[in-house]
Amino acid sequence: MVLEALGRDGCSAKAVPVGRLEQLKEDIQSLHKAGVLDEKVYNDYLLTMKYQVPKDFPDAKSIIVIAVPNPQLKVAFKWKGKRVETVVPPTYAFGREVDERVRQVMAESVAPEVLRTEKAIIPLKTLAARSGLTLYGRNNIAYVPKKGSFVRLTAFYTDLDVEDDAWGERKMLPACKTCRNCLKACPNGVIIEERVLVHVERCLTFLNEQSSDRPFPEWVDPAAHNAVVGCMHCQRVCPYNKAFVGGYTDGGEFSEAETSYLLKGEFEGEKAKEIESKLMRVGLDLSIFPRNLKIIMDQQR
Ligand code: SF4
Ligand code: SF4
Repeated sequence: MVLEALGRDGCSAKAVPVGRLEQLKEDIQSLHKAGVLDEKVYNDYLLTMKYQVPKDFPDAKSIIVIAVPNPQLKVAFKWKGKRVETVVPPTYAFGREVDERVRQVMAESVAPEVLRTEKAIIPLKTLAARSGLTLYGRNNIAYVPKKGSFVRLTAFYTDLDVEDDAWGERKMLPACKTCRNCLKACPNGVIIEERVLVHVERCLTFLNEQSSDRPFPEWVDPAAHNAVVGCMHCQRVCPYNKAFVGGYTDGGEFSEAETSYLLKGEFEGEKAKEIESKLMRVGLDLSIFPRNLKIIMDQQR
């Protein structure tokens, strides 16, 4: 009933028993042991994951992993009399809203006393692929059948039993067998013919999500940057995203004074808090400024 309610709300969802947490951990650790995961990626992202049920929810029985349609945003920055439009790719914005919406739909699908949910901090992409919710693209991005990659993943522990454990092998999109669009479009040589795992450490998304005090490596072509955070090159050319790629949500505008403040990079006190809260509404935070905005503005000259 919970999964059906999520489906009626436009989401896609699958459930696995909490016993699968150990295998989820093994999936990540085996990649690390095989040396195919960059050490920094492993430390930054994957070591922060929690593979046990929350201490205050020992009766958790299942994990529901959910994909919620999530648009790309256009966010404008006014600078030197011009209005510069930048892109915030899907999956950055509306994190809180997505979780609240999903929680509400789940709560309304059964009697309130029946269901308890707690947010799960786990490797979502791996779980989504293992549960059959998503398929991997050659670009290592998660795709939902008929919804493409413009989705935000989230997961919750629940106290419901799983009738059908969806756990299985990870699968690739059928078209990846013959398509090479993303491989050709990637400016950094991240996607390679010989293996399914990409060179994450070379990916613009990985590089521009780092704190702004880390400069981009010299080998990155400044013209490759195409979003204020993340990168859309490989998703734009993917045939599975054809129906969604032209759609944007308006993420608002930063005034000339706000842009100037972000480019200056000295963030302190009330002003910093004020602008951070405006940034958070579009899935951004101060940590990537001024570096990411500066490189986009430099291309406007
Ligand atoms: S996100 Fe950008 S840099 Fe990363 S694999 Fe895709 S095209 Fe390459
Ligand atoms: S662009 Fe082609 S190869 Fe790349 S993920 Fe999409 S279908 Fe697969």
